[in-house]
Amino acid sequence: MTTYTFADLPYAYDALEPVIDATTMQIHHGRHHKAYYDNFLAAIKDNPLNGQPLETIFAHISKESAALRNNAGGYYNHNHYWNVMRPNGSNAPSGALLDAINSTFGSVDACKAAFKDAGIKQFGSGWAWLIVGKDGKLAITSTPNQDNPLMDTAAVQGTPILGCDVWEHAYYLHYQNKRPDYLDAWWQIVNWDYVAELYAKATA
Ligand code: MN
Repeated sequence: MTTYTFADLPYAYDALEPVIDATTMQIHHGRHHKAYYDNFLAAIKDNPLNGQPLETIFAHISKESAALRNNAGGYYNHNHYWNVMRPNGSNAPSGALLDAINSTFGSVDACKAAFKDAGIKQFGSGWAWLIVGKDGKLAITSTPNQDNPLMDTAAVQGTPILGCDVWEHAYYLHYQNKRPDYLDAWWQIVNWDYVAELYAKATA
């Protein structure tokens, strides 16, 4: 049985400043993420999938309600997002992950540019993703709303190793309508060590 917990952020609300301001983090984690969590618990309560890992739920999500899809997605996606960020990230990918990025995209900069493009072109609310596809190769994609690439409904499916929230609630207080500026600044706080861990697991 999986217990669905609501975790504190792994750092202080103001730890990601100036890239993401403390008020945005407080509202995002304490209100938006908390609402997805509470609504997920309500939606899964009487479902036979209750207690299953989220990955299992996502693999069958096309047969489930919109409430479960949106809130299970919101719960998972935000947990992922908090953990792929850290104060003073600003390191760079290395090792096997760096090799995979170079062979797939040509360079880290080209990977970042493709990721930014996916984030900008996601119309309305959603997420930009770097994933390990079912072929074991890296790919960049985006999903609308709180969908993610683990869902059987996703156009491009795979295991997320780096996801960026491009809902306006993630950046609007500081960046207003300038989503590209948020996506540019965001690399400063990416926790590449954690991304590398997810890559290793996904390719094991
Ligand atoms: Mn969000």
